[in-house]
Amino acid sequence: MTFFPAEKISQTEQSDFLQITAKVEENELSVLVNGSFANGEHIEKCVSNGSDDELKLCQMTFKILSELTGIKPAWGLQTGVRPTKLLRMRVREFGLEKALEIMRNDMLISESKLRLAYRTMRIEDELLKVLKPNGYSLYVSIPFCKSRCSYCSFVSHDITKSKKLMPEYVELLCKEIEHTLKIANSLGLTLQTVYFGGGTPTALDDGQLAKIDRAIRANVDMSGVLEYTVEAGRPDTITAEKLAEIKSMGANRISINPQTLNDEVLQKIGRAHTVEQFYDSFNLARSMGFDNINTDLIAGLSGETVESFKNTVDEIIKLSPECVTVHTLSVKRSSSDMYRGESRFRAVADDVSEMVDYSRNRLENEQYNPYYMYRQSRQAANLENVGWSKSGYESLYNMLIMEEMQTILAVGAGASTKVVNGEQIDRIFNYKYPYEYIRDFDEMLNRKNKLKEMIKY
Ligand code: SF4
Repeated sequence: MTFFPAEKISQTEQSDFLQITAKVEENELSVLVNGSFANGEHIEKCVSNGSDDELKLCQMTFKILSELTGIKPAWGLQTGVRPTKLLRMRVREFGLEKALEIMRNDMLISESKLRLAYRTMRIEDELLKVLKPNGYSLYVSIPFCKSRCSYCSFVSHDITKSKKLMPEYVELLCKEIEHTLKIANSLGLTLQTVYFGGGTPTALDDGQLAKIDRAIRANVDMSGVLEYTVEAGRPDTITAEKLAEIKSMGANRISINPQTLNDEVLQKIGRAHTVEQFYDSFNLARSMGFDNINTDLIAGLSGETVESFKNTVDEIIKLSPECVTVHTLSVKRSSSDMYRGESRFRAVADDVSEMVDYSRNRLENEQYNPYYMYRQSRQAANLENVGWSKSGYESLYNMLIMEEMQTILAVGAGASTKVVNGEQIDRIFNYKYPYEYIRDFDEMLNRKNKLKEMIKY
């Protein structure tokens, strides 16, 4: 999948496109790549010592496919969502030098990605010192959006179809908040961050966000809260009334996400807003006193060119948001025509790598620091998503969700609670869709009751 993210991978005896055969025999390991695409046979062999056969087979496969496709994935063999967490674990186990050596020589990670992961980890380690041993975060899920973006992989509902569910959803969400916070209080926990995400929280009707906020404040001591974020998300949901509502809630951080400053691309991906609407929303938020705004961008959207992405980065920097999160498009199989075919994919991978490199250089030059990162499967060029921030504006919640260093109690449809007891992580999943959440709401409360046994600190 690193080399062919848009293709279906299966185990087969036929060589209709590309076949990879990995063998462990006696003392020998071998990888054979053939098939119509492979242009002949490619073989790598090495001696097996019985202890790291899988790693060696991966390295040999990687070598052949790199040569064959001309693609040199910067993260090498490393998979997984959390590169910084993995680095931290290796440092703890082997020490810094050895951990870096493993990532460089065994996992074949490039120097630039190693530096990025190391720098991000150091920043996180410093900032996460504010975590209390009995602290936790609250995540509030609002799984509604004004319309559906074509690339989206979140559970979110177009409100043209699901608007009628919203009042009941909000009503029950407030009940789940009350139930959950009472349990947290009884366990002596301290709330440290609040995050409204989705979906698009601002897709709710006027007054509904404030109602949810009242349910939180009525049931927990907010004096320990260090950060309160509301994802305003889509500019076409942002009005002066909504922003005033968020302000009155005491939220101190919002996101306004253009994804790109290219109207043609916005139209193509079904964002249903214009570049002008983004500027209007951003400027409105600034004029109303929001002084910690994040903007999300995506490298690799359909129709985006290297030049138009560079222009987006330049223009965003001129606005001087406190945080800029640069995502790399995660390629959905169903919408992957632009990536299909080896040469096309290589061209896109090269372009996307150039976009991501450009954003890194520009943001670094403007004194933004990488403060959290994560990876998804099928990302173009197998890259990553990085949160960049001006010093002092880094989002604690974003670091926490990736590094899994604190319990996150999550409420609402599609939300998953993560209980962190040291190295052990246990989860409680809520129903995915609003209609299920409403239909079987009592089950949500029952599941939350398990927190009493799960939290062991
Ligand atoms: S606004 Fe965000 S959550 Fe909603 S459909 Fe678009 S990408 Fe998905």
